[in-house]
Amino acid sequence: MNDNFRDIFVETNCIPQQELLDYLQDNLGPDDRRRVETHLADCEFCSDALEGLSAITEKEKIPGVIRQMKWNVLQNLRRKNRKKRKLEFYTSLVVITLVILFVALACFWIYHFVSKR
Ligand SMILES: [Zn+2]
Repeated sequence: MNDNFRDIFVETNCIPQQELLDYLQDNLGPDDRRRVETHLADCEFCSDALEGLSAITEKEKIPGVIRQMKWNVLQNLRRKNRKKRKLEFYTSLVVITLVILFVALACFWIYHFVSKR
């Protein structure tokens, strides 16, 4: 009974990503390796995760790849911010132009009105 409960617990206890990476990079001892393989056979979630990780063919460069991904995200964010700032600049330019036009038109009308009298 007790053993059955422990089995259930082990089966539902998923493998952390670091351990999956160690498994891919052959850094696990034979006992851990067997445990990971047993879990992978039962768990769709973990075998999917392993598939995703092994899709990165240069396994030793995984931390570099993750750094590159983070950098790309950061670059995209910066580019978006720059675009937003550009839009704000053009919006204020249009507003200023409209204000100047309005003032010029008002001056013209006032001048016209005064000179007619
Ligand atoms: Zn799992």
